[in-house]
Amino acid sequence: MSQNDMTELHWLFDMLQHIDVGLVVINDQYQVQLWNGFMENHSGISSTSAKEQSLFDLFPTLNQQWLQSKLDNVLALRTPIYVSWEQRPHIFPFKSYRSITSISEKMFQNLVIRPINNANGTVTHLCLVVYDVTDVAVNKAALSAANRKLDQMSKTDGLTDLNNRASLDRALKLTYESYISGNSGPHSLVMADIDFFKKVNDNYGHLIGDQVLQEVAKILSGGSRRGDFVGRYGGEEFCVLLLNTNAEGARVYAEKIRQQIEAAVITTAKGDINITISMGCSELSDKYSSLANWIESADKALYQAKENGRNQTVVSQ
Ligand code: GH3
Ligand code: MG
Ligand code: MG
Repeated sequence: MSQNDMTELHWLFDMLQHIDVGLVVINDQYQVQLWNGFMENHSGISSTSAKEQSLFDLFPTLNQQWLQSKLDNVLALRTPIYVSWEQRPHIFPFKSYRSITSISEKMFQNLVIRPINNANGTVTHLCLVVYDVTDVAVNKAALSAANRKLDQMSKTDGLTDLNNRASLDRALKLTYESYISGNSGPHSLVMADIDFFKKVNDNYGHLIGDQVLQEVAKILSGGSRRGDFVGRYGGEEFCVLLLNTNAEGARVYAEKIRQQIEAAVITTAKGDINITISMGCSELSDKYSSLANWIESADKALYQAKENGRNQTVVSQ
């Protein structure tokens, strides 16, 4: 080997020692033959202590069965294997020094296992290349958390936390379609509208009005079962989709809620407020030729409740 070759080899070795990637060479007994600076820094195990030790003795928490079968495969097939952090996030128990969030203090890693060809063509050693991909993993987790939040927000009414109009419309459409295809039923719809709500705004101001809407939303949610779909239809109007509930069941539900709202004392910064609500119920049946017809029948029942003097429930006949 010439002096030049020696110098280049020295440079190369120096770079591999300091590169921000883990490099390990093991023999077919899984014993460490080479251990670079990355591995030393992150494991706290010096190259001298690691040498000739089995990987599985150095890291008792490694999933031996799984990793050993990967290593044996590479030895036998002489083709590299790639393991993404998405399959196995933390193969080596390293801490992450980069993590900016609290999502994980552990280092996320990609791992490549390569066969090393001897001069005579046999394979007796393997090289493990460990990449720190914590940044990528943390960013991806943050992105999916943000997407979940956005998805949630797009379905929810900001003031009351109930389902918003768009998701209510979707639920109504799905329910109607399932019913007319003969797959489900009975289903009922309850429309609710706060009585003289304009007066609340006029007397106490819009902010107190908002608080009243939130209290009503709480009572509606609290009185509902799992599977009931409670939404804000608009303004001071609410809509509850009661699945597998007939007209009588809807009337019982609506009356219970109406009475709870009548009895509730809403404590506000401007004093206690009592309100009432009117309810219109309609069970889905074949006499409605469209979803709009069904909704209209509940609306008409609600209008009738208002006409009859408010604070009452009317069921569409
Ligand atoms: P009725 O008994 O006939 O239902 O009378 P009402 O006063 O409740 O009905 P009306 O439809 O005349 O008034 C509804 C009021 O609801 C008018 C509107 O300013 C108010 N409103 C709608 N959305 C909101 C909101 O998000 N916050 C507040 N504070 N008020 C709202
Ligand atoms: Mg109204
Ligand atoms: Mg009203």
